[in-house]
Amino acid sequence: MTDAEVAVVGGGFAGLAAADRLARSGRRVIVLEARDRVGGRSRSDRFDDGSWIDAGGQWLGPGHERMYALARRFGKTVWPMYVAGKNVLHRRGQRGLYKGTIPFVLPPAALANLAWAFAALEWQSRRVPLDTPWKAANAEALDRQTFGDWMRRHLPNPDTHFLIEIVAETVFACHPDDLSLLHALFYFRSNAGVLRLTSSAGGAQQDRVEGGTQPIAASLAEAVIQAGSQVMLDAPVRAIRDEGGEAVIESDAGTVRARQVIVATPPVLTREMDFAPGLPENLRSWMDGTPPGRVIKCFAFYDRPFWREAGLSGSAVGDQGPLKTIFDGTPPTADHAILCGFIEARDVDEWREKSMEARGEAVLACLERFFGPEALNATRYVDHCWVDEAWSRGCYAGMSKPGVVTKARVDFTHPCGRVHWAGTETASRWNGYLEGAVRSGERAADAVMRSLSSSV
Ligand SMILES: Cc1cc2nc3c(=O)[nH]c(=O)nc-3n(C[C@H](O)[C@H](O)[C@H](O)COP(=O)(O)OP(=O)(O)OC[C@H]3O[C@@H](n4cnc5c(N)ncnc54)[C@H](O)[C@@H]3O)c2cc1C
Repeated sequence: MTDAEVAVVGGGFAGLAAADRLARSGRRVIVLEARDRVGGRSRSDRFDDGSWIDAGGQWLGPGHERMYALARRFGKTVWPMYVAGKNVLHRRGQRGLYKGTIPFVLPPAALANLAWAFAALEWQSRRVPLDTPWKAANAEALDRQTFGDWMRRHLPNPDTHFLIEIVAETVFACHPDDLSLLHALFYFRSNAGVLRLTSSAGGAQQDRVEGGTQPIAASLAEAVIQAGSQVMLDAPVRAIRDEGGEAVIESDAGTVRARQVIVATPPVLTREMDFAPGLPENLRSWMDGTPPGRVIKCFAFYDRPFWREAGLSGSAVGDQGPLKTIFDGTPPTADHAILCGFIEARDVDEWREKSMEARGEAVLACLERFFGPEALNATRYVDHCWVDEAWSRGCYAGMSKPGVVTKARVDFTHPCGRVHWAGTETASRWNGYLEGAVRSGERAADAVMRSLSSSV
């Protein structure tokens, strides 16, 4: 039996931010993490030659203040992703070049429909209250529909339909028909709007962290330990019981007794823990109805960024796949270059069944269509399928199906007895992002401190 004032379940950014805040306030904390590493959906892989990738969360953008502050605190350099030059749009076998977020190569009718779609989504999403999305005007009607229903009704132009489908799959990592319109609108507002979400410079894809984002999580864990608390790895939590005036947390690495608990795991995994007393029905239905998106993140390495010589930024969008969105993933100090792309949503079901070699061949052939024959000369190909990660089951975040938000009406600031909630899915601002994870952890830590002080 180990004793702590607070047990934190999950050593991703949410759990670590909570533990750090508590440990810095002098509280004794134990973080129980299922994996043999911290960081969760942030995972930075380093290769023998010193090169590295962010297999998970990688970009920071305006508004991600806590993440920029953490990078500064731990001495990490932040650099803007390379965006100079033109982006490529590959559609119906044709290649067009454009600058910025909006592909001005499209016919005027498509651009008009696209401008309308962005404006309509911005306007509608601003009417969704972030802490209580189920209280939006017409919330139930919005929640009954899928984002796909909205697209079919409002996007008569096939080019616009195609682009907004790419936006949906890139932002949510799920098919628009699998997602509640109300949740989509909430998510847009939570992340400063659809334009910011889809933009590189000035948007969610603006900056990278030298060495990757996971080392920040490792530094946070180290800070927690330095402050006298513990981080236990290989400690998947199976059950949380309220017993004899304490919480008893059963993990594969042993049992922990604590006065308060913060659960900072994705909903798809929280629902598999045994809680006694059992969780309220609405919380269960939210977990059941908020599965994670699906992504295979792919990386092609080259000896130089040859696309820049052709005046291209490395950003590209296309309809053929398997990659439909691509970015320049080259660190500024590297002696090599990287193109990074995403296989997303329903496409993942087909491609995860194949070997990495087979995916690599298809990915390079796809990159050739965007950037020319030099794209075939990759020096290395790697990818990472997040659906196959037992302790994530997908990414970027849980996405609510139709009917779930208005039925469940979950207020994540309300603890269930001694159990408090954190994790990016519980964040009202920057939901789904690293920033939301950190903010949710800080919020839960503050609530726990209030509970601890009032029960002394
Ligand atoms: C491919 C990909 C790309 C992304 N891109 C970006 C991006 O560019 N920018 C951005 O801001 N965000 C991005 N994200 C999202 C971002 O990574 C997540 O929002 C964030 O990491 C979530 O943090 P979290 O702490 O809430 O959850 P997690 O990181 O999932 O942490 C939860 C932790 O709980 C552990 N756990 C699970 N079950 C148990 C259990 N039973 N017992 C104990 N521990 C358990 C897990 O192992 C994990 O470590 C991306 C994610 C992925 C995967």
